[in-house]
Amino acid sequence: MNAHDWAHLVIDKLQVEGHQALLAGGCVRDRLLGVEPKDFAVATLATPDQVQEIFGRKKTISIGKSFGVITIIGPKSAGNIEVATFRRDGGYSDGRRPDSVEFTDAREDALRRDFTINGMFFDPVSNEVIDYVGGQADIKSRVIRAIGEPDKRIEEDRLRMLRAIRFAARYNFEIGPATMIAIQKRASDITDVSPERIGMELRKMLSHENKAQAWELLLESKLWQQVIPSEFAKESWDGRVPVLKALQADFATTLIAILQSSGLSPKRLQECWKLTNEEVVRADWIAKHASQLALASVLPWSVLQPMLISPHAESAIALNQAMLDSGTLNESAKLPESIAYCREKLALSREELDPAPLVRGEDLMELGIVPGPRYKQILDEMRKKQLDGELSTTEAARAWIADSEAGT
Ligand code: ATP
Ligand code: MG
Repeated sequence: MNAHDWAHLVIDKLQVEGHQALLAGGCVRDRLLGVEPKDFAVATLATPDQVQEIFGRKKTISIGKSFGVITIIGPKSAGNIEVATFRRDGGYSDGRRPDSVEFTDAREDALRRDFTINGMFFDPVSNEVIDYVGGQADIKSRVIRAIGEPDKRIEEDRLRMLRAIRFAARYNFEIGPATMIAIQKRASDITDVSPERIGMELRKMLSHENKAQAWELLLESKLWQQVIPSEFAKESWDGRVPVLKALQADFATTLIAILQSSGLSPKRLQECWKLTNEEVVRADWIAKHASQLALASVLPWSVLQPMLISPHAESAIALNQAMLDSGTLNESAKLPESIAYCREKLALSREELDPAPLVRGEDLMELGIVPGPRYKQILDEMRKKQLDGELSTTEAARAWIADSEAGT
């Protein structure tokens, strides 16, 4: 059973027990857009206690119970599904999280949601869309519009500003004029949101294929200055659009495409975007090696090979490809052939790309060399000679070592 069928079954069961139950939010939007939803969310008139009663305590998880959310444990193939009791949010005193929740009906539950396209329900049993907010019309006209008064909705939760941009970019929608004006007016309030939540939104929009659009919307909405350190100049913001358009890669690679020629390092963004250490390490590697890989076709194999066997090599090559395609930095005349050369080498079998070393520590031991820092030097040198084709057998390598050690 897949997630869709499982959601259907859960709704059916709730309805049979006499409770209104509907698909809600993102999955309804995606269904109307003809996109496969990432997950399915159920909203119901049943209270959390009733939901637990119906599915059994053993088959439910109640961590979200205080917000009215019960998780139903599904078969492995389907995964878990969240069933949320229709609720209204009980006021926002901090601009981030509702202070409390109260249970209510479907209409009010729709009204507390952020954008019209996210505020619809779907009844899979009767096959009906339930739309209290004009979401269907906005899907047709491809516009992100706040439910209710944009200014108030943003004041309640400032993260909605970034969410508007993320959804607009993801679906290639426009942001409605009133919603855009409200965002521009409140842009500086985004700093009330925690760096974790800001970072998550940026990560999502900048790892999506439409990242260039997100980037342009960050500029238009005036949010950009709030989310990036002030050393980042507006000119470098504009200059990034072509390369972002051409780039097909993950978030760490996108970071480097953004930071290139800005003078900022990934480390500098780590605090404000709450980057993980892994992301920083990956981004640093790409920043450091992409320009070397741009010269791949003229590098000795012993220099190129250690870069190509890195798990980040493909990303650095994708970045070079994007630079080439967008004509961003053409300082390396060798770029086209270097990219082709890297790809050709990466297509080799693992043994061809990264053959076992000819000699190891044990060989040096057998040759009577005293263990110490010298080992690494010798082994590195042997590896270099092996990769550059100067030595091709263990015997030859051992003979070479014996020879040179005799001379020292
Ligand atoms: P995605 O496909 O990215 O998960 P989604 O629409 O499912 O998109 P979620 O963040 O998972 O987005 O939220 C689920 C639903 O909850 C949204 O569709 C929206 O109706 C509502 N929602 C989420 N966050 C907010 C918010 N900050 N303010 C108001 N409503 C929200
Ligand atoms: Mg979701």
